[in-house]
Parts: sequence; C-alpha cells; structure tokens
Amino acid sequence: MSNPEDDAMEGLNYQERVGRNRVNSTNSNPNSTQLAVATSFGQVFEMVKRAAEQSLDMHRAGLTLVLGDIPNNVGAYHELGSNAIVMNRNIVKIVWRSTPAVDKRNAFTFMILLHEYLHTLGFTDEGQVAELGKKIADEFLGRDHLAGEMAVKPLDQFFPEISQFAMFRDKGQYETVERFDSSSTSYIR
Ligand SMILES: [Zn+2]
Repeated sequence: MSNPEDDAMEGLNYQERVGRNRVNSTNSNPNSTQLAVATSFGQVFEMVKRAAEQSLDMHRAGLTLVLGDIPNNVGAYHELGSNAIVMNRNIVKIVWRSTPAVDKRNAFTFMILLHEYLHTLGFTDEGQVAELGKKIADEFLGRDHLAGEMAVKPLDQFFPEISQFAMFRDKGQYETVERFDSSSTSYIR
C-alpha cells in the first residue's frame, strides 16, 4: 500500500482509468454491463435515476453533486430541503486508491448516489433506505451485483483500506461536479 500522501491528488477523473483492470464482477444484466463502463459521476447518476424510476415510479431533477472534505465517518449526505448531494471526497479517493477496477468503483458510486437520491425523494429512515437500495439494485442490476451488497453491508467489508486511512483528509475545498444532473449526454465520448 502506497503512502496516502503521494498520490492523494491524483484526482477523481474517471476517464483516466477507464478500461484498465476490470474485475469480473459483472453479470449478464445489460444495466450491470453499462454501469461497469460508466465514465463519470453524471453517467452513474443517470442510471441511479433510471433504476429508482423503474422500481418506485418516482423521480427528481436538478440535483447538484458536491465533493466535500468532510469527516470520514460520513460517506455522503443530503440536507433535507436542499438540492445538493455531498459526497465525501476523502472516501472517494480512498476507494479509488484501493481498487483500480472501474466496475467496482462504479458499484460504490452507484450505491452511494442511490442512497442519497432516495433521501432526496423524501425517504428519511436509514433502515428503509438501505433496504430500498438493495431492492432497487437487485431489480436493476441483478441480484448478485456488488452494488446491492454494498447497500446493506458496511463499506469497509468491500474496501478495508477505509479503516486504514480513517484519518486521511485531503484538506480540499468543496467542489461541484460539472454537468452532474443534466440529461444531456453530449459529454459522453
Ligand atoms: Zn442515509
């Protein structure tokens, strides 16, 4: 394991890692196949919205994604009444560091965004959100998908490095992810 400092600022650019080192965690489900090669937070979020719509017949537009330097006991949060989902940038970096596998990173992103998206839809009970997250992931990605497992199990079971780097903070500013919730696909190249 490398020093957390030396590549801490490698950035959260999906594009640079696409195509490398995929793990064989995809099933034959077409959504699972699509998620495995998603190349941005926006692309993953489009899939989250489609999954929720299919299972719950609910949707919401106009959300903003912020990557923030927040304490590592919080993976992400949505403040009720706001239109922002804030993801813990440190944990994203730890997850990125712990696996170069794009499909595993995307399963993590899908699960985190789905969880917070359910909060934005008005679900406030954590147990209910976890169960709904599992149900929606099962229905959309197939029952054996990693994202469904991540919905109901502690993240450090999948990324043991999270506890190893528990104190890691990047001291970065909050940053807003551009074009996160636009239905335009023009940026997908
Ligand atoms: Zn929650």
